[in-house]
Amino acid sequence: MAHGSSHDLAADTRALVLEEKGRLSLRPFEVAEALGPTDVRIAVHTVGICGSDVHYYTHGAIGPFVVREPMILGHEASGTVVEAGANVRHLAVGDRVCMEPGIPVPTSRASRLGLYNLDPEVRFWATPPVHGVLRRSVVHPADFTFRIPDNVSFAEAAMVEPFAVGVHAINKARCAAGHTAVIMGAGPIGLLTAVAALAGGCAHAIVSDIDDTKLEIAGTLGRISTVNVAKSDLAAEVSRITGGWGADVVYECSGNEKAASSVFEVLRPGGVCVFVGIPLEPIAYDVAAAQIKEARVEHVFRYAHVFPNCLEMLSAKTFDVTRLITRTFSFEESVEAFELAARAPAGEVKMQIVLGNR
Ligand SMILES: [Zn+2]
Repeated sequence: MAHGSSHDLAADTRALVLEEKGRLSLRPFEVAEALGPTDVRIAVHTVGICGSDVHYYTHGAIGPFVVREPMILGHEASGTVVEAGANVRHLAVGDRVCMEPGIPVPTSRASRLGLYNLDPEVRFWATPPVHGVLRRSVVHPADFTFRIPDNVSFAEAAMVEPFAVGVHAINKARCAAGHTAVIMGAGPIGLLTAVAALAGGCAHAIVSDIDDTKLEIAGTLGRISTVNVAKSDLAAEVSRITGGWGADVVYECSGNEKAASSVFEVLRPGGVCVFVGIPLEPIAYDVAAAQIKEARVEHVFRYAHVFPNCLEMLSAKTFDVTRLITRTFSFEESVEAFELAARAPAGEVKMQIVLGNR
């Protein structure tokens, strides 16, 4: 039925609804969505569970975004086009697609500058008050919907959203071929940033975390050395690997206060540090340590312009992002999936919920 007509889809209005902080239900939930001339209607196939979805569930807010009324979760999605608006040219019914979840105002000042991810008016799935996609179907602008290459699965395509964060971080680093990178944090964003760095010309990536299972997965993704910072000293390891020079690029993906305070210790003189992970509380970094090395510092917020590149990279099959998918649930198991994710069990990287036919 997941690949059925829009009529079949309309019959099942269930969605995974965050009723309020700490309370989820899978229940009928009508979302009024008209198909405009430049929109497509998509039968949702696979949705990844993101740390932000889990945080809204456990805390009811992220920064200024507060859940004030029931909201559907989920923003990392792939599916199949079941209906296309009259003016849609590049997509047709039956196309397998993944969706970029943030819709900016096309004529906004930020959008005109090419910085559409920074548009203050952007509407982003599962960020209050905008509903997410843990439901049978969704209407989305065709311009933010991308056809999946034949050799890329729905599971892989649902990884494009977090992968895009890593690719955007690599673009912000503007690094040279053959560089060495340190990636702090081996969660989905850290591991996908490591993969993106290697694909973008990094010759050697060093990933740090405190979870041995995640580090083991990291070691299977390419030329990646791993450091468990609960057991060994990252700065000493990086110094050893780089002959005392330091890493050309540091990607801080943990959002952890201790990690962020030490980013410049592992950086080479004149290197670049990219803050990728979003800390939940304000954290400090050492400006004097950055000055001594004349470090360039970049920050990333989500991504812009990279979904087609991500799909091309997945289609090239030079790495396997499915190694990051440690658990898969059915739509019916959605609430359990989130309960498990909220306990943050060791060794789990990316969990996905599959609504369509496997
Ligand atoms: Zn996400």
